[in-house]
Amino acid sequence: MRDDFTAEIKRNLAARVGHLCSNPECRALTSGPQDDPEGTVNLGVAAHITGASLGGPRFDAALTPAMRSSIDNGIWLCQNCGKLIDSDMTRFTESLLRAWKLTAEDHARYSLGRTAGTSTLVGKPELQLYLEIDKIGPDVYTQVPVRRFFLGLKNVGTVLAKFPGIRFNRSSGLGLDQFGINGNYGTGLPQLPSQQEWITFRGGNDHVIHAAEELMVTKLWQPGENRDVDGINVKDYPNLHTRSGPTHHRWEFKPINFRCDISAEGIPTVTVEKEFPSESVVWLRR
Ligand SMILES: [Zn+2]
Repeated sequence: MRDDFTAEIKRNLAARVGHLCSNPECRALTSGPQDDPEGTVNLGVAAHITGASLGGPRFDAALTPAMRSSIDNGIWLCQNCGKLIDSDMTRFTESLLRAWKLTAEDHARYSLGRTAGTSTLVGKPELQLYLEIDKIGPDVYTQVPVRRFFLGLKNVGTVLAKFPGIRFNRSSGLGLDQFGINGNYGTGLPQLPSQQEWITFRGGNDHVIHAAEELMVTKLWQPGENRDVDGINVKDYPNLHTRSGPTHHRWEFKPINFRCDISAEGIPTVTVEKEFPSESVVWLRR
C-alpha cells in the first residue's frame, strides 16, 4: 500500500518552488509547452522525503499514512533527481532533502515578483570567514598569555544560508577555546565529533545565517612562546631584574596562516585562508 500524494498536493509542491527542481545543483525547469498549442509538458515529480511504502527509500514507520502522504513529506524534483535520491540513501538523507526543500522554497520566495533585470533565480548565500583577534590575555589555568580569536561566518550573499558549516585542521596553529564563545561553553553552531585532524562545526535545520549577517561560532586560541627578557627594553622596565630573576618576560606569538573549509546548503564548499602577523607582549612573571 503506497501513501501517494493527491493531485492538489503535487500541484502545490511544484508551485511552491516555481516548478524548478529542488536539488540546488540542478534547478531544472520542470514544466513547459507541448507542441500541441494547448498542452503542457511536466518533467517534475512529487518525491517522497520518507518512503511512501514499507521498504521504500527512507521509510519512516513512525509516520501515519496521513503524514506520509501530506505535503510536509513531499519534495518537488525533476525526474532525474527523483531517481537519483532513491539510488543512494546514505547520501540523500531525510535531513538533506529537507534542507533542499527549505532552500528551494526560499529561493522561490525571494525570486517571486522580481523582474528579469533583478532576477535572482541565481540568488545564493555566500559565506565568508570571520576571524579576528579578540585579545591577548591570561590562560585560565596557567595565567601565561595566550592570543585569542573570534571565529565566525559572514553571509555576504542575497539569501539565507542554511546548514552553515566550517571545518579546520588541528595543524592550523589555533586550538579550540574550551570555554566557547562566551566563556560559558556555548558555541554558535554545534560541534561534530572529531574526525581525525579536523575540527568541524555544522548547523542543522534551525541554524541559519541571514543575508548580510554574521554568526560567531566559537573562540580559538594560540599559545605563546616565552622569550625570557629577549627584546625587552630595559628603560621601560627599570626594575626588570630582581635577585630572584627577571620580573617580566616577553612572550611571542608566531604568525598564523589559518585555512578552513566553509559550506552551506546550495553552495559548493570553499577553502579560505587568513593570515595574521607575529605579535609579542611583555608579561609580568608569575
Ligand atoms: Zn533535478
